[in-house]
Amino acid sequence: MYPWNRATWQALIDKLERLPQALLLHGRPGIGKFAVAERYAQFLLCEGEPGSEGPCGTCAGCRWFAIGNHPDYRRIEPESLAPLPEADEERKSAKATKPSTEIKVDQVRELADFLNIGSHRGRRRIVIVRPAEDMNANAANALLKALEEPPAAAMFILVSHRPQRLLATIRSRCVALPVGVPEGPPARQWLAAQGVADAERWLAFCGGAPLSALEYAQGAGGSLILEMLRALHDGDREALLGLVRDRETLEVFAEVLQKYALDKSLAALGTQPLFAALLTETAKIGQVRGAAIDWLRFARRMGRDRALARHPLNPKLFAGEMLARLPEKA
Ligand SMILES: [Zn+2]
Repeated sequence: MYPWNRATWQALIDKLERLPQALLLHGRPGIGKFAVAERYAQFLLCEGEPGSEGPCGTCAGCRWFAIGNHPDYRRIEPESLAPLPEADEERKSAKATKPSTEIKVDQVRELADFLNIGSHRGRRRIVIVRPAEDMNANAANALLKALEEPPAAAMFILVSHRPQRLLATIRSRCVALPVGVPEGPPARQWLAAQGVADAERWLAFCGGAPLSALEYAQGAGGSLILEMLRALHDGDREALLGLVRDRETLEVFAEVLQKYALDKSLAALGTQPLFAALLTETAKIGQVRGAAIDWLRFARRMGRDRALARHPLNPKLFAGEMLARLPEKA
């Protein structure tokens, strides 16, 4: 759990007296929801001194949990989030296809045995589903069934970036707990401690989400984003298109255009831009050509294109199409 999640942790402690059968932790990506959910699961399975405000870390339950082997705990997530261990090379190569990005019905059905036999350690059984919106339709219906006929002493913790995409019937069976974006100072301090020099800029680009900011600042994505912004600012179309090499870079490209356009529309409205902190070094917003509504429309379009970028198509051609729609060119 991260230092800025203390308020969420307190809210979870307050729920201990009347523990719901299903919890829904929701909030934007990159703010540590899953880490809080896991700590809570560990706490509920902890066999240490009662009355404490966190898992003891030393009891048998905590030790099982720490090595990822607690018999009363299950984590349901897309295969893409749970890569096979390195030792499993054989299974890896046998699976020629890319790991699935959705939660499949079999994963939920496999819970039946786990939920129907009693607890191994005499406490609850805990299931975390994350991100819950990645359940496909069949998986969601199977989970709904489990929530409708709750097994004794079992608890579900759903973690979601986009709760509005969940079935309303699932949402209504969960006690929702929103997890907020952290305040600037603790997030910046934490990022600085991770060795991020320009925490402020990356936090701005990521809407204040520290884990996303860390990923951008330290991954290859960060320098690519800066290069794209620079080329965008210079109006260097050729350099921009040169940076789009494959589907991954195309997705980053759409994200950069989307955020750039949102900033432009805010500036056109005379409002403080959201991502300007990231843009200032490479590209001042400056005078805005084009109306706010055109920039907003373009930003919305880029949001859609970001999702499309994952599908097979010619990345350069698609990037060229995106650029041709820039309201600035009009
Ligand atoms: Zn413990």
